[in-house]
Amino acid sequence: MTAELANVAVLGSTGSIGRNTLEVIAASGGRLRPVALSAHSNLDLLVCQAQALHPRWIVASDPLSAATHDWSGLPSDVELLVGTDGLETVARRGEVEIVVAAIVGSAGVAGTWAAVEAGKTVALANKETMVVAGQLVTELAHQTGARIVPVDSEHSAVFQALQAGRREEVKRIILTASGGPFRNHTAQQLENVTLADALRHPTWTMGPKITIDSATMMNKALEIIEARWLFDLRPDQIDVVVHPQSIVHSLVEFVDGSVIAQLGSPDMRLPIQYALTHPLRLPGPATSLDFSERMRLDFEPADLDRFPALSLGLEAARAGGTAGAVLNAANEAAVAEFRAGKLHFTEIVPRCRAVLEQHQFDARPSLERLFELDRWARQEVMRWACL
Ligand code: NAD
Ligand code: MG
Repeated sequence: MTAELANVAVLGSTGSIGRNTLEVIAASGGRLRPVALSAHSNLDLLVCQAQALHPRWIVASDPLSAATHDWSGLPSDVELLVGTDGLETVARRGEVEIVVAAIVGSAGVAGTWAAVEAGKTVALANKETMVVAGQLVTELAHQTGARIVPVDSEHSAVFQALQAGRREEVKRIILTASGGPFRNHTAQQLENVTLADALRHPTWTMGPKITIDSATMMNKALEIIEARWLFDLRPDQIDVVVHPQSIVHSLVEFVDGSVIAQLGSPDMRLPIQYALTHPLRLPGPATSLDFSERMRLDFEPADLDRFPALSLGLEAARAGGTAGAVLNAANEAAVAEFRAGKLHFTEIVPRCRAVLEQHQFDARPSLERLFELDRWARQEVMRWACL
């Protein structure tokens, strides 16, 4: 971003990342202008955002919700687009310079893909895009000149720390994980956790799906795959360490043994803002760390026995091809079943492993094939839930 104004499309503006993005935009002193917003079913909030911000377009991506919604409050200067096609349309619009990919799940892939195809700057929160189609998306970005800047706090930290050395001097990256609400639970205690327990994250306030992913540590599994593609690393160059305070957001080790970390309070507005203003750093709304208080930074190894999602993430990162798409879709479906009370917390990861092991692996799939497997993996999880 230059000192001039940038037009921003926020796909998923009603979610946790979306709302934080609008706060960053509001605090930008007019440098960032929201020109497109989207929501799936929370259309009251979308209209409220449209009334406050007057974007050129809003997208109601769920046609059923859009059809029954009362749109009388929508300002006349805001154009309404309906359906997932609308997401792709706004992502490609010439007036849009930055697309914030803040939709949850593989539903976010299409809009992100359209933005990359159109050569935009993509502020990527939707890690599922990289998990599902990281290879194809990064190849497409090379062709179109699109820039993909991470929003995920760990990947933003790596992106920032990488600036301390040259690419070929990187030995490995170390992703930090809070460990979630069950970090100290025994295997037996994990058997008894409820949905309410899983939704109580100790350090971050986030949407429900990623909060549950943090509790199983599937979030870190997905982040390993995300990092593999974002930074073009071999899977054996990606480590995970548990850091309960969520202050060190990740680290890069260079070949000389020097380790560079990025620190900040657990506030997503900081990585969101950096993705929107990079390479500039500007004052912003994120809270500062307070060094006048005693502060501890603990690091402990991740327990792969209690949190088998991590091994699954590493395996899928090593396998590449269709593995990420299948793992991601199985997880989305299993988390939905858990939220519906149809699956136990400890069944989420084994269910994902079973679906991953069953699928017809393809090392070089097309985007269409990945979408097919996404649908297949969801059906497999649902089918088993009915048995
Ligand atoms: P959320 O559930 O709070 O919001 C999701 C947004 O996506 C909403 O605007 C919703 O309307 C939209 N949406 C939901 N289903 C959709 C569909 N089928 N089609 C189109 N739009 C749909 O989620 P969130 O916590 O903001 O997470 C968004 C993304 O950012 C996820 O990929 C998550 O992993 C990633 N992320 C989030 C955080 C965080 O702090 N929340 C941190 C790092 C990464
Ligand atoms: Mg993260």
